[in-house]
Amino acid sequence: MFTQFVLPYNYDAFEPYIDAETMRLHTTKHHASYTQKLNDLAAAHPEFFGDKSIEQLLANLTVAPPEIQTTLRNQGGGFYNHNLYFEQFTTVPTQPAGKLLDIICRDFGEFAAFREQFNNAATGLFGSGWVWLIQTDDGQLKICTTPNQDSPIMPGAADITGAPLLALDIWEHAYYLRYQNRRPEYIDAWWQTVDWRVVARRLGVV
Ligand code: MN
Repeated sequence: MFTQFVLPYNYDAFEPYIDAETMRLHTTKHHASYTQKLNDLAAAHPEFFGDKSIEQLLANLTVAPPEIQTTLRNQGGGFYNHNLYFEQFTTVPTQPAGKLLDIICRDFGEFAAFREQFNNAATGLFGSGWVWLIQTDDGQLKICTTPNQDSPIMPGAADITGAPLLALDIWEHAYYLRYQNRRPEYIDAWWQTVDWRVVARRLGVV
């Protein structure tokens, strides 16, 4: 049974950056739907799912039975990506600090350069998808994008793969009610909600 991340905050906690109705629909409709369909797939294919974690399932996507690969990719990716996304919201503004900041500066020069590169990836991604800060197998931090609900832990889904540290949802359902076509305004607002303590924990430097 895959369990949707339970919000430790209210839907309106991120006004005016992210509006309450978007948070409500995003969690109770979109994320809930991915989760339900993933659980339906698991119930229908216990021989493949076994007791694998979602990370193991997505990393093994290409060896899943061919008839379930598309559903696992879309619904499993949607479940996993949104758990990462909703976990990293905070109402207490934070900034990257300590070892996390050191590693960002090591790999991007400075924090502002990292943020600019991330913003450029987000505004430049055509259609629906995600922007990621990941840690590659050799320990480097990199920015990558994935289409649809693909995830950087899926083999071949991005030009580089790795462990997700920071996830930005740029499907229109994440911002259209408040920002309509103004994706850059959503991205600017979203930065105000990022919990860098969660990012540091994912990197293992806390
Ligand atoms: Mn979404």
